[in-house]
Amino acid sequence: MSGSVAVKRPGNTPLMQQYYRIKEQHPGTLLLFRMGDFYETFDEDAIEASRLLEIALTRRSNGSAKDVPLAGFPHHALQTYLPRLIRAGKRVAVCEQLEEPPARGKLVKRGVVEIVTPGVSLHDELLSPKQARYLAAVHWQKERAGLAYVDASTGEFLVSEVGATELADVLESIQPAEILIDKAHRDRIAMAGAITTYLEDWVFTFDYGYETLRSHFQTHSLRGFGVEDLKAGIIAAGAALHYLSETQKGSLAHIRRLGRAAASDAMTLDPQTRRNLELVASLQAGHTDGTLVEIMDRTLTPMGGRLLRRWLTRPLCDAARINRRLEAVEVLSLNRPLRESARTLLKKVGDLERLASRICTGRATPREMVALGTSLAQVPELQALLQGGQCRLLASLAADLRPCPRIVERISQALVEDPPANWKDGGIFRDGYNEELDDLRLMARSGKEYLVGLQTTESERTGIPSLKVGFNKVFGYYLEITNAHKDKVPDRYIRKQTLVNAERYITPELKEYEEKILGAEESLARLEGELFASLRQFVAEATAEIQDTARLLSALDCLANFAEVADRSGYCRPVVDDSLLIRIKDGRHPVVEQSLPTGEDFIPNSVDLDPASGQIYIITGPNMAGKSVVLRQVGLIVLLAQAGSFVPASSARIGVVDRIFTRVGASDSLAKGESTFLVEMNETANILNNATARSLVLLDEVGRGTSTFDGMSIAWALVEHLHNEASVAARTLFATHYHELNELAKGLRRVRNFRIQVREQEGRILFLRRLIPGGADHSYGIEVARMAGLPQCIIDRARQILFQLEGQHRGVDVAAEEAEAEDLQLSLFPKDNPYAAVVDRLRNLNPEQLTPIEALVALAEIKRLADSAD
Ligand code: ADP
Ligand code: MG
Repeated sequence: MSGSVAVKRPGNTPLMQQYYRIKEQHPGTLLLFRMGDFYETFDEDAIEASRLLEIALTRRSNGSAKDVPLAGFPHHALQTYLPRLIRAGKRVAVCEQLEEPPARGKLVKRGVVEIVTPGVSLHDELLSPKQARYLAAVHWQKERAGLAYVDASTGEFLVSEVGATELADVLESIQPAEILIDKAHRDRIAMAGAITTYLEDWVFTFDYGYETLRSHFQTHSLRGFGVEDLKAGIIAAGAALHYLSETQKGSLAHIRRLGRAAASDAMTLDPQTRRNLELVASLQAGHTDGTLVEIMDRTLTPMGGRLLRRWLTRPLCDAARINRRLEAVEVLSLNRPLRESARTLLKKVGDLERLASRICTGRATPREMVALGTSLAQVPELQALLQGGQCRLLASLAADLRPCPRIVERISQALVEDPPANWKDGGIFRDGYNEELDDLRLMARSGKEYLVGLQTTESERTGIPSLKVGFNKVFGYYLEITNAHKDKVPDRYIRKQTLVNAERYITPELKEYEEKILGAEESLARLEGELFASLRQFVAEATAEIQDTARLLSALDCLANFAEVADRSGYCRPVVDDSLLIRIKDGRHPVVEQSLPTGEDFIPNSVDLDPASGQIYIITGPNMAGKSVVLRQVGLIVLLAQAGSFVPASSARIGVVDRIFTRVGASDSLAKGESTFLVEMNETANILNNATARSLVLLDEVGRGTSTFDGMSIAWALVEHLHNEASVAARTLFATHYHELNELAKGLRRVRNFRIQVREQEGRILFLRRLIPGGADHSYGIEVARMAGLPQCIIDRARQILFQLEGQHRGVDVAAEEAEAEDLQLSLFPKDNPYAAVVDRLRNLNPEQLTPIEALVALAEIKRLADSAD
């Protein structure tokens, strides 16, 4: 570290010595060093900051030592520059001046007040309202991994243990902004691409972790949280809390409980499935339009928006819990007045979760305090609305809400309706809230009124009509008289300042009032600060209740949101049970149906997956027919149902799915330098290794990345396996343009052939988008090529070649033995293959029985054959 070397440099100025001392205490951070109105960075930090922030890199002459690189920015630009550093993955230590600059020549006391990291930040600029910002900690113990994650902006803190192999998937679903790992496991990757911070090993020990947690929560043990058995989890949680207190310096009081993340009750969605189904990000990198979340999000509070994302990316697997949500959604969707009243009230609710954290950490502004009061004030009415006993979930939700009337009352008594953002601007409290405050205000006000009166009386007494009372910082209050009336100035006036065409005077009386006014204003500011701090403290004591209420209100927001979307977009309540069926009538793709060009209608389709009869659908049809859409819509409908939402269909019965697997062709990671085919096979292997009979497998064009016969063979074997192997006999939709795969249905009882209907008209294809039973008889590739505008001569020639090839195949049973498949492949070569003689000769050789001489002779002969073939 540059600091530790430089600190020993002789000739450092006292200021630089202070800098290096602080720098050394915060290894691994970029230090922003407050100097007057600027934040400065030095040495490597300066080089880095100037690069990341595009600010000038200069040099500071550092005593007798050689020049030090320097880069800085004005303090008010912190809100602009800090987020940029964090987004670049930096950990930033913010060092402030801790006192008013003392007498000239003395060093100002400085200290780091906060370390902002990708995972820990309470700065608004770094938080997006609808996204949680998790800091995660991972501790491996053999085959298990302890996992804890915490959102410092809301106080949510969860712990769990997962199998080491599942860890990446679980992390993927949490999307932490930063992951903590012990140095001992430096070589392990918890989640590809995540920002990782390595902490000393002692932080990741059980005793330290347990004690850190216990003393933070001020409990005798952790038994009350129901996490005692999670040894590795506690280690991870302790490390997360350790890191939080190291970085936040201030209060962590808003972190009130440690919850157990139920790993098994949520469906795991692997990264490619999240991507392929376009849940939160669209396949076009960086876009969020065209995602499920975008279509489904009509929530009214930021915390509701965050919960909705969680519900949609971690659907439930427990039919009873799913049905409790569905029941509530149904009540809210049928009872429109109820829903609308609830949503009208929710509109007035702010981000209670984050407000509570800001109050606890002493960051809340008067405006935020008013927002908190207004939010909580909606609770009693919401309670009354929901208590009607319409359904269990809503009733229990209503019963658990905490209206905190004392807080609402106190805030509305204390603060004016629309206070300034900063309490230092004054005037945040109502008259009558505090007697002393009222007195001081009166004093300040009456003093000013007196001065206005003084101006009138003095101007009458002296006969100077232009006499004015004014104020400036140097002389305080004064009387100003223009030079024209200089001779009328009475003796009792004391001259203080001469201007070009006027002079300024004071009187003892004026100074007496000045003292009163200024004294009152000063006390006023001090008192307002004290009162605001104590109001904040009063509210902070109810943090736990506010957090509970926030949680319940976000759930209500989500349920009402599902009802709203269902009502607007014509969704129906699915039947969710423990069967193994997926029976969707007139299903639609929730996103595609919203984004079709005007004039085009979405054509609904039905599927009836049933492991007893129709376990596997082979769906054929030309390119652009709508195969991928059918696959994805089934996946999305299952996912929505298990999140507790109504679904875009006329009816649906969903036997709970434990995992959705997707393998979607053409999502090539070529940009990442991986071959499409390898990616495809990795994903396919993942499916075969992890699917169960309860899973839903969506295979879109497997085997496309390699030669036709390779691809077809792999696809073929895959379907056979999913059909015959009871442990992985998942419900499967397999879209393919290999119409040859239709042959599978002949031999495999639970495989059914479907195709997306198209009509050929005068050599063109009309897409009907309807999924109907039966296989396609050819692949329409040439028609699609024609539509795409390939030159007619190419199209004609392709038709000719296809005809010839098909002639060769005619009568070949694709379902036949391997040997025949080999023949098929060979027959693809022209009949008069010039190398046939070479191949024949090679086939007839028997190397084990050849002498070296004979081998050489054979080799020469083969070369001759090959030469003559060229
Ligand atoms: P395939 O996978 O068969 O090549 P896609 O599923 O990608 O085809 O569908 C191609 C396009 O057709 C989609 O982008 C969509 O615009 C349209 N489409 C697909 N299914 C439907 C449908 N059921 N109703 C209306 N339009 C559809
Ligand atoms: Mg497709």
